[in-house]
Amino acid sequence: KKRLLQELKGQDNVTLDGKRINLYANIGGVGDVASVLANDAGGIGLFRSEFLYLESDTYPTEEAQFSAYRKVAENMAGKKVIIRTLDIGADKQVDYFELDKEDNPALGYRAIRICLTRPEIFKTQLRAILRASYYGNISIMFPMIISVSEVKKIKEILAEVKAELDAEGIPYKKDIEIGVMIETPAAVMISEELGKEVDFFSIGTNDLTQYTLAIDRQNPKLDDFYDSHHPALLKMLQMIVDNGHKGGAWVGICGELGADTTLTETFLKMGFDELSVSPSMILRVRDKIRSIDTTK
Ligand code: PEP
Ligand code: MG
Repeated sequence: KKRLLQELKGQDNVTLDGKRINLYANIGGVGDVASVLANDAGGIGLFRSEFLYLESDTYPTEEAQFSAYRKVAENMAGKKVIIRTLDIGADKQVDYFELDKEDNPALGYRAIRICLTRPEIFKTQLRAILRASYYGNISIMFPMIISVSEVKKIKEILAEVKAELDAEGIPYKKDIEIGVMIETPAAVMISEELGKEVDFFSIGTNDLTQYTLAIDRQNPKLDDFYDSHHPALLKMLQMIVDNGHKGGAWVGICGELGADTTLTETFLKMGFDELSVSPSMILRVRDKIRSIDTTK
């Protein structure tokens, strides 16, 4: 079986009846790019940028971030690299942020909520990402979105950062693609409006499951209740695809569910454009896609 999977390198992610889907990889650092390339992923669908903040004992500088993002973009040689902006808080605590202890950290001050209230941190990261975008095919993705006004605010801040770079004569990809993670039930319910604001959606099924089922994803006692195939979730997935497409956004999945091959056929039939999975799952999911006939 292992040898057979290796033979799938260089092959298309195409079903027996000719349906294609992009198959990208999730990474948590620069060191993961080798395995992305070794497993023949078409791009990086989720670059968790937290590692830069977690492995440092103070705020990572613009230069340090620029250098990491640029390296990944260059190594991917023109293939898409979707960088997710800072997603700390909740389960990912970083001391120098001096975040308060919270009773409900998963419902607390985290991710985009930190970025929007501490714009100096956000702007440093956006500057680094934009500068790196000159050296490859980078997109930016924002986590934990719950409203259209957040997206509008993000766009304003991004425009300010672009104007700064323009004034300094620093090159970047002017029409850089932006997307949001759909990982709260609120984002699902307003996905029609969100789809008009962004270029793409990527569904964070880990958090979306947690928030929809009201089940702490960190609590092993609840594993039996954490039903990732719950009909409420499957209905949401279809709704997100349809609303994204209505607004002209492409739609993918970057949570763990994307690698669940018992659902690959369902995802294809729902109309997903992309699945982003851990590098080690790329060829297994490709194998599955190539065995499916969606007309049957
Ligand atoms: C998710 O929530 O599904 C996701 C991809 O993001 P993370 O697991 O990093 O929260
Ligand atoms: Mg998440």
